[in-house]
Amino acid sequence: MTGMTSESCPRSEARRVGNGTEAVSRPTIGVFALQGDVREHERVLAALGARTTLVRAAGDLAGLDGLVIPGGESSVMDKLSRLLGLAPAVRAAIDDGLPVYGTCAGMIMLADRIANPITGQQSLGGLDITVQRNAFGSQVDSFETRLSVPAVSEDPVHAVFIRAPAVLQAGPGVDVLASVPAERLESGVDCGLVPGSVPVAVRQGNLLATSFHPEVTGDWTFHRYFLGMIAG
Ligand code: GLN
Repeated sequence: MTGMTSESCPRSEARRVGNGTEAVSRPTIGVFALQGDVREHERVLAALGARTTLVRAAGDLAGLDGLVIPGGESSVMDKLSRLLGLAPAVRAAIDDGLPVYGTCAGMIMLADRIANPITGQQSLGGLDITVQRNAFGSQVDSFETRLSVPAVSEDPVHAVFIRAPAVLQAGPGVDVLASVPAERLESGVDCGLVPGSVPVAVRQGNLLATSFHPEVTGDWTFHRYFLGMIAG
């Protein structure tokens, strides 16, 4: 797979409504389906009107308008995606501008740098951030909170963090959309970006990533925002 060109990557379909020319978009979103909470993302995306398709091999990327990489275990996703030859194909699609949204482990997969990978762990990369895996502690340290995300929503967003990564560093092209207080971090984790605060939602062009899991909360703000990135 050499990545998608504008010719091979069809945009959302548009159809005529009544006598007018109102565009109704129904994008096709792939869900990276090697491991993790694939079904949850599929359900949200379908409820928001998108077509969904599972991505397990390079050929599954053809014709996608966007891709979601779910939460789960990034080291497993990494191993499987390289074994199956999916990793280089997704990276090529990212470089070609495919919109991709990564949640939790998906954020780790999109990060250019992992501060604490397991031995041999790689990421797809594309997003100019350094992440720390499990930065808020283990499963028992999972927490829920309401996040202020002014660029995305007027209302606070309900966010669930489960063995979540934190963004320790971000390049100049990265917009921080939401942060949590640094005291949430496990002791010893140092986030030097903004004193006292840790980014947990970021965007860089076609790439969106959140440390948390909107697919399990019923708060679909970030999925809507992602579909808006595609439509826009
Ligand atoms: N800690 C996991 C990892 O390293 C991510 C956890 C999650 O996706 N909930 O991949």
